[in-house]
Amino acid sequence: MHDLLTDEQKMILDITRQIVDQRIIPVRAELDETREYPWEIIKEIGKSDLFRLFVSEEYEGMGTGIFEVCLTTEELSRGDLSVATSYAASGLGLIPINIAGNEEQKKKYLPQLASGEKLAAFGLTEAEAGSDAGSIRTTAIKDGDHYVLNGTKQWITNGGEADIYTIFAMTKPDKGIRGASALIVEKGTPGFKFGKKEDKLGIRASATRELIFTDCKIPKENLLGKEGSGFIIAMKTFDESRPVVGAQAVGVAQGAFEVALEYSKVRKQFGVPISSFQAIQHILANMGTNIEAARSLVYHAAKVIDSGAKNVSRLASMAKLFASDMAMKVTVDAIQVLGGYGYMKEYPVEKMMRDVKITQIYEGTNQILRNVIALDMIKRGVL
Ligand SMILES: Cc1cc2nc3c(=O)[nH]c(=O)nc-3n(C[C@H](O)[C@H](O)[C@H](O)COP(=O)(O)OP(=O)(O)OC[C@H]3O[C@@H](n4cnc5c(N)ncnc54)[C@H](O)[C@@H]3O)c2cc1C
Repeated sequence: MHDLLTDEQKMILDITRQIVDQRIIPVRAELDETREYPWEIIKEIGKSDLFRLFVSEEYEGMGTGIFEVCLTTEELSRGDLSVATSYAASGLGLIPINIAGNEEQKKKYLPQLASGEKLAAFGLTEAEAGSDAGSIRTTAIKDGDHYVLNGTKQWITNGGEADIYTIFAMTKPDKGIRGASALIVEKGTPGFKFGKKEDKLGIRASATRELIFTDCKIPKENLLGKEGSGFIIAMKTFDESRPVVGAQAVGVAQGAFEVALEYSKVRKQFGVPISSFQAIQHILANMGTNIEAARSLVYHAAKVIDSGAKNVSRLASMAKLFASDMAMKVTVDAIQVLGGYGYMKEYPVEKMMRDVKITQIYEGTNQILRNVIALDMIKRGVL
C-alpha cells in the first residue's frame, strides 16, 4: 500500500523509519523496564520536524493532514507504542487549538508545539468520568478577567512532561454537558500540580499522571471557542484523533507480524522450519490479511477527514475499533507463533501485546465506539 504514497509522504515515512530503526528499537525493552519517559527520542522526533504534521503552514507546521500523522504514528508504533503514544498525545492536546483556537491563541501556542520544543496534553477524564465524559466535575468558574479552576484529571498522557494542557471543565456546572468548556492551561501556573506517574501494564515509558487544580487562575483569554462548547470540541477532536489510535494499533501489529514471520523461518522443529507447517502458515496469512484490511480502513478514514467531509465520527470510530481489535488478536497470535519464546521478555512480542491493549481503551473504549457507530447508522442510515 505504501507504493501509492506521494514522494513527500515517502520522505516522511523514511525519516520516521530511520528514527525507529536507529533510536527506538535498540532501547525499547529498556524503556519498558525503566519506565523512563523517552525524552531523547521525542527531541529527535521534534528535530526531524514530525510534530509539524499536526499544524498548518500558517503556524509553522507542514500543512499536511491526518493521513500523514497516521503514517508517522503507525511507523513509530511499529517500533514502540510508548513513544508513539507520547507523540500522538501531543497532537491530541493541540487539535482543540486547531479546531477552536482564535488567531492569538494559535499564534501563541501552535509554533512551539509544531517545533516539538513543547508538548501538549489533553485533559478530559476524571475518576468518576471516563466513558461518561459528560459527568466531569472539574469546575472553571469565571471571576473577573480569569477562570478559577478546581478539580482533578486522571490518567492524562504526557501529564507532567507537557507544557500546554487542553483542559475540559464545567464553566456552568448546573447546565450538564452544555456547561462544559475547554481552556488552555500552562504548566507552572500557580495551583496546577501533578500526581505520580502511573505504573501500567503496557506503554510503560509513556507518562500517565493526575493533573490537580486548586484555585488555579486561568486568564479568560485562554478559553477555547465559546463557553459551553467544550463537549463539542472534545468530540470533534476525537473525530480526528481516533484514526490515529487505529494507526498505532496497525503499527504495533505490523511489528509483531514481522517478528513472527522471521522467527517462523528460522525456528526448526521436527527437522524443518515451523513456517513449513500449514497451521503456522495460516496464522501468518490471517495476520497479514487483517493488518492490511485495518491499514486500508485507517488510511481511508484519514483521507476522508482530510477532505473536509462532515459526519466523520462513524468512520473515525470504525478505524480505531477495527484496528485495535485486529492488533490485539495479531499480537496474541504472534506469541503463539513464537511458542514459549514469545512469552519471554527476550523477544518483543509479549511487550507488544501488553502495549496494544490500550488502543481498545483510550479515546473511547471499543464498547463506546460500537455505540457511536450503531447510533449513527440508526440516525443516518447505512452509508
Ligand atoms: C494509559 C491511559 C492513558 C490515557 N490517556 C488519557 C488522556 O491523555 N486524556 C484523557 O482525557 N483520558 C485519558 N485516558 C482515559 C481513557 O480515555 C479512559 O480510561 C476511557 O475513556 C475509559 O474510561 P474508564 O477507564 O473510566 O472506564 P469506564 O467508563 O468505567 O468503563 C468500564 C467498562 O464499562 C464499559 N462501558 C462504560 N459505559 C458503557 C456504555 N454506555 N455502554 C457499554 N459499555 C460501557 C467500558 O467500555 C469498559 O469496558 C487514558 C487512560 C489510560 C488507561
